[in-house]
Amino acid sequence: MHMRILSTYAETISDGIGLRYAIYFAGCIHRCSGCHNPESWRADRGRIVDEVYLSEIIAEIQANPLLDGITLSGGDPFYDSSQLEKILKRLKKATNKNIWCYTGYTYEQLIADETMRACLTYIDVLVDGRFEKEQADPTLYFRGSRNQRILLLKNGLIVKEFHFEE
Ligand code: SF4
Repeated sequence: MHMRILSTYAETISDGIGLRYAIYFAGCIHRCSGCHNPESWRADRGRIVDEVYLSEIIAEIQANPLLDGITLSGGDPFYDSSQLEKILKRLKKATNKNIWCYTGYTYEQLIADETMRACLTYIDVLVDGRFEKEQADPTLYFRGSRNQRILLLKNGLIVKEFHFEE
């Protein structure tokens, strides 16, 4: 099975620090109440990430010297973690940009799974956890609800947690 991408944004400032290239993947199992994008739950929509498409994305990123990094969102990029690992590896090697990744899983859930844990080694900042309507707060930076954490990672381990509102 190949992952699909619903949309890409060549430049965004709302999906992490700085000017970023954002990739929105299709597919999510979390079904959070109050999800901003339930259309992204289905994994069979969007364009299949094959070699041609991934090369196009990488070329677009390499052509923009103003970019600070890349953000993966969705849906949930971890919907198919074995595919995600290959995509992350290519993106990191070809661009050397810092990578933010949003997921409905918690960090603890991810490290309990071998393939998911392997993905973390390519991710610089993980925004983790489901969207919890009861903890939603529109004043938060780069996250939707208070339970979600913005974690700086190194080699897959947590270095620190960011709280940009403080
Ligand atoms: S993890 Fe994100 S995309 Fe998935 S249901 Fe929750 S809010 Fe929606």
